[in-house]
Amino acid sequence: MSDQVTHFIGGVPVAEGATFATHDPVTGKPVRLVHEADQAVVDRAVAAARAALPGWAALPVAERAVWMRRLADAIEERFEDLVAAEIADTGKSITQTRTLDIPRGAANFRSFAEIAAQRPDNAFHLTDVLSYTVRKPLGVVAVIVPWNLPFLLATWKIGPSLAAGNTIVVKPSENTPSSVAVLAEIAAAIGLPPGVLNVVHGFGGGSTGQFLVEHPGVDAVTFTGESRTGSTIMKSVADRVKPVSFELGGKNAGLVFADADLDAAVEGSVRSVFTNGGQVCLCTERLYVERPVFEEFVTRLAKRAGELRFGRPEDEDTTMMPMISAEHRDKVLSYYRLAEDEGAEFRAGGGVPSFGDDRDGGYYVEPTVLTGLPRTSRVNREEIFGPVCHVAPFDTEAEAVELANDSEYGLAATVWTSRLSRAHRVAQSLEAGLVWVNTWYLRDLRTPFGGVKLSGIGREGGTDSLDFYSEPTTITIKL
Ligand code: NAD
Repeated sequence: MSDQVTHFIGGVPVAEGATFATHDPVTGKPVRLVHEADQAVVDRAVAAARAALPGWAALPVAERAVWMRRLADAIEERFEDLVAAEIADTGKSITQTRTLDIPRGAANFRSFAEIAAQRPDNAFHLTDVLSYTVRKPLGVVAVIVPWNLPFLLATWKIGPSLAAGNTIVVKPSENTPSSVAVLAEIAAAIGLPPGVLNVVHGFGGGSTGQFLVEHPGVDAVTFTGESRTGSTIMKSVADRVKPVSFELGGKNAGLVFADADLDAAVEGSVRSVFTNGGQVCLCTERLYVERPVFEEFVTRLAKRAGELRFGRPEDEDTTMMPMISAEHRDKVLSYYRLAEDEGAEFRAGGGVPSFGDDRDGGYYVEPTVLTGLPRTSRVNREEIFGPVCHVAPFDTEAEAVELANDSEYGLAATVWTSRLSRAHRVAQSLEAGLVWVNTWYLRDLRTPFGGVKLSGIGREGGTDSLDFYSEPTTITIKL
């Protein structure tokens, strides 16, 4: 990975536009210079995708699947480069990056190759009528992704979009351009037809992201990020009625019943609250625990929070990473102070760790466990997106469900119980797109993924992705 991050348009690198710096979240020092795509560069990227569309869309799906598998193979060949790029931008631990972020990138291409290639055509027969459906690509798709799981989330959308025959222009987050830039190098190296996959870098509103989504040559927008940004994008594409797929924010609840395996519930909650520094849309920020085990659960969770290790990314036993940027660290810390003002009890954390080395310039905050806040408090209602949760007691199953559903968001929920009937009953009552029972973030890529309420529009995953990235035409013939 060079120190400069360039756009990738029509199969070649393009170093145009003003530059801005990314910063290493571990030390706060500048790491890379990134070119910002202005309107003219975005125009070229969209034109390249448009020019490549007829050829790519006309390829039999089996041939597109071959390209997908080649991309997956090439990702594995450049595995360590991708790991290094991801860590440089995010400060993630090497263990997580090697086991989650980059392998999921390869899996995103491989699984959608299989799903697309094996998808049956729809045909319906009446005695003298045959109706069948052909699915066509949407056209040129804009892919806009955030910084928290840069490679995983970009490939999650690029894979099915390409498999369905679209050509694309991707805009990674301004904070984390590097791993998608490596993917562009990979695409060029394997000879992916020029223009099929284009990458432009830059900011959101008033910059590259807005130029891209509003571009008349873009037929659809797939976006992962904050709910507020989703709403802005929706308004900006409304006049052209572009299809949108939105994976947005969350304020996810975890329910711990007294009949649960408490060891598993504590360890599972450590994962669901603190993984990736709490910077996963699926992370739990509200925990509700049945009163008889409340005190023991909070004590154990707080103890485990204090044991998380702020190592450097390259240390294999590092379990706590920094926030992505100084701005995001300040946002998380402002919620710690708000929790104080709202009267929370801090059972763990609440501050900034001190290292006595260059990490003091980085964007670290302490993993934090809060109790004692009313459900109306802002800390209990707004997405913080940091390593923090609030824990409150409940007395009945109905109350637990009511508390969990008392949110504007509805992305994911977690239920800890050993009673089978309760697991099904509660899971089905929760207003969330995803419910995990006695686990968290266990994914089968064939299943629908997405949220309800402010957490999103539509579902991706398996054939749901292919449904979004294509348009059906129904043909009915009188026989
Ligand atoms: P963000 O909304 O600030 O930015 C996401 C992307 O949108 C960036 O690439 C940004 O440059 C771009 N953007 C911003 N304004 C734009 C505009 N007006 N037009 C076009 N593009 C624009 O989000 P973030 O801070 O990067 O990511 C964190 C958020 O993402 C959290 O809310 C988190 O919950 C959410 N998220 C959701 C999921 C999910 O699957 N539901 C997954 C990961 C993250």
